[in-house]
Amino acid sequence: MSKGDLDPKNWDSFRAEAHKMLDKSIDKMKSVNEGRVWSPVPNTLRDKFKANLPINESNPNEIISDILPYGVGNTHPRFFGWVHGAGTPSGIISDIASASMNVNAGGRDHVGPVVEKQVLKWCLEIMGMPKDGSGLIVSGTSIATIIAMKVARDQKIKNSRKKGIIQGQLVGYTSEQSHSCIKQAFDVLGLGTEALRVVPCNDNFEIDLDSLKKLISKDREMGFTPLCVVGTAGAVNMGAIDDLEGIASIAKSENLWFHVDGAFGAAGLLGKLAHDRLSGISQADSLAFDFHKWFQVNYEAGCVLFKDNMTHRASFSDRAEYLRGSERGLAGGDFWAVDYGPELSRGFRALKVWAHLKEHGVEALGNSIDRNIRLAQYLEKRVKNEDLLVSLAPTPLNINCFRFVPNLNLDDAKLDALNEEIVILIQERGIAVPSTTKINNQLAIRINITNHRTQESDLDILVQAILDIGQELTKNKTL
Ligand SMILES: *Cc1c(COP(=O)(O)O)cnc(C)c1O
Repeated sequence: MSKGDLDPKNWDSFRAEAHKMLDKSIDKMKSVNEGRVWSPVPNTLRDKFKANLPINESNPNEIISDILPYGVGNTHPRFFGWVHGAGTPSGIISDIASASMNVNAGGRDHVGPVVEKQVLKWCLEIMGMPKDGSGLIVSGTSIATIIAMKVARDQKIKNSRKKGIIQGQLVGYTSEQSHSCIKQAFDVLGLGTEALRVVPCNDNFEIDLDSLKKLISKDREMGFTPLCVVGTAGAVNMGAIDDLEGIASIAKSENLWFHVDGAFGAAGLLGKLAHDRLSGISQADSLAFDFHKWFQVNYEAGCVLFKDNMTHRASFSDRAEYLRGSERGLAGGDFWAVDYGPELSRGFRALKVWAHLKEHGVEALGNSIDRNIRLAQYLEKRVKNEDLLVSLAPTPLNINCFRFVPNLNLDDAKLDALNEEIVILIQERGIAVPSTTKINNQLAIRINITNHRTQESDLDILVQAILDIGQELTKNKTL
C-alpha cells in the first residue's frame, strides 16, 4: 500500500470519497437537461475562493461538489453560445484513468505516444490527408494554428529558427470572416499582425478568390514574400465554408502554404451534409481543428495535422542533451511530441480522444453532426416564419444569425442594444445561452448548434423566449 507523503492516510476512506464524487459527476451529466442552463456563481461560493493560503490539511471535496452547477453550461441542450462542444459522460472514465497514470506525454517509450500515434493516424484518415503525414494533439485550435504557421514560416525562410525573420518580409492571407487566432499566430511568431492581409468576402461570407489573387500580386510587386493562405472550414460568425479547392489551386500556382482552420467545421467530414464542401481539406499543407467542439470530446483537446512529416518535424526537433533518445529503454520510442511542438511536459489528452472515437465510431459522430445541421435549418425556417425576427446571414452549416425587430422604426443603435439585452436576459433567466456577434455591422443574436443534446423543442423554447422578452422590453422600456 502506497504511503507517500502526499498519499491518502486511509485508502478506504479515499476510495469512498472518490466513489461519492464519481456518483455526483455521473448524476450531473445524467441530469444536464434539467434546470437552468447557466447560473452566476453565488457570492457565498465566490467567498470560498477568497480564503487564505492553506497552511494545514483540509478536505476540498465538499467545495468541489458545491461548484458542479456553476460551469459554463455547455453540457445543457440549450447552450448555443460561441462554439462549445457539449461533451459526453464517458470523458469522466478516461480522465479518471489518465489521472491515475499521471502520464507525461512529451516523449519516450510508453503507452502515451502509442495511443497518440493511433489517434493521429485516424485523424489523417478522417481528413483525407496523406497516411504518412504527421500531427500533434494540443489544447486547441489557437495553439494548433501557431504551430502550423511556425512550420509554414520555417519551411519558407532558411535558418529562420536560428536567425529569426526580417520584419515585414513575409505576408499571409485570410478572409475577413476568419478567426482571431490566425492574427494572434502572426503576432506570436513575430510576423506582425499587419502581415496578415484581410481578404474581402462574397455575399455568402466566403473568401473572394479574385481579391485574393489581386492582393498576392500586389504584394509581390511591392517586394513582399507571400507565405501562406488560410482558408476557413466553418467560420465562427455564421459557419461559412471557404472554397477550399479554389484556395488550394491558387496556393499551388502561387507556391503558398495552404492552411485550413477547421476548428469545428472540419468535423463535418464525418457526416454527409457538409462533406463535399469540406473535401478540399485533403489538399491542405496543415489543418487545425478541435476535438472539444463538434467531435464532442470533453475539454480540452485539439489537433494540428500536416501533409509532410519531415517539414513538421524540421520546425521543432532540436533536443537538448538531457532529452536524447536511445535505441532501447524508456528513452527509446519513435514519436516524441517534443519534436513536433513547443511543449515538453504534457498530459495524456490522446486517451480521451481515442476512447471517444472507439466508443461511438465515426458513423454515429457524423450522424450527430448532420442532425445539428438539420436543426440549424429548422431554426432558419422558424425565424423566416416569425414577423418580428429578421435573418442577418445565410445558414450554410450549424449557425443562425438573426435579430428581433419590432414594428417601431428603431435605428440600428437601438436595435443593437435591444438584442443585446434580449440575449443577456435569456442567459440570466437560465432559459438558454445564445451569444451575439456583428453581421454587416448589425448586432445579431447568434445561435450555434454544436450540441448533440439539442432537440427541436429546445429551439422552440428559445424562439418563444426571444419573442416574449423582445416584446416585454419594447413595452416596458423607453427605447
Ligand atoms: C474556436 C475556434 C478557434 C479557436 O479554437 P480554440 O480551441 O478555442 O483555441 C479558431 N477558429 C475557429 C473557426 C473556431 O471556431
